[in-house]
Amino acid sequence: MLLHRSAEIVDGVHFYLWVGRSMNCNSVVLANALAGARPHVLVDPGMTGGAMGERPLESLAQAMSADGLRLEDVGLVIGTHCHPDHYQAVDEVVRRTGARVALSLPEYDFLKGVGGSFYDSFGTSLPSSKPSTLLEEGELALGGDGWRAQVLITPGHSPGSVCLYMPDSKVLVSGDVVFPGSIGRMDFVGGSTRQMKESIDRLSGLDIEYILSGHSSMSGPLVSGKDNVVRNFQMVRMFF
Ligand SMILES: [Zn+2]
Repeated sequence: MLLHRSAEIVDGVHFYLWVGRSMNCNSVVLANALAGARPHVLVDPGMTGGAMGERPLESLAQAMSADGLRLEDVGLVIGTHCHPDHYQAVDEVVRRTGARVALSLPEYDFLKGVGGSFYDSFGTSLPSSKPSTLLEEGELALGGDGWRAQVLITPGHSPGSVCLYMPDSKVLVSGDVVFPGSIGRMDFVGGSTRQMKESIDRLSGLDIEYILSGHSSMSGPLVSGKDNVVRNFQMVRMFF
């Protein structure tokens, strides 16, 4: 069953909006962002299974396929953070594709430590895929023609949450850091209000046209247009 809606936000940046009922996240695919045989980047694979028999990863694969993108052609999986609703399907994606995996160093440490407890609460086992890339702040080496992306380490929702920023298209893939009209929870283990404030302050200084967030909020799935982005940051900065 197709439980994602897809939109190509700018050339090559495909947003897969989760519209199912179980816990899962929105995903982003950067099409042909890598050089080589498996050229797509998948940000946040989500979950393999959900409540009511939903199969989020299968839905994502189908939605991608409708856009002419094969899950099998994913060469790199990036987790914005390690929470199961974003990252649990990583093993299955790796099994099907042989893709490399990337998390930030603090997030991987968190996953191996107390952050792993989220998987118990979801009744699922800890991913066994080891990141081949530990993301650091700065330019992300992609290799595909015309692709530039920056990694921003933006803790607060989790210790090593990252956002991806594409300076040419001014797209921010924000994970669970910032949503339309809202921000990620800070009360989970590994969360920090102080770090979240710093992360939000930092992101608000970027030149952004689109915020693609990890979940929809009451205000919708994404923020588009520079003025709306500026207003969104003004609004969420009032939370602190
Ligand atoms: Zn999360």
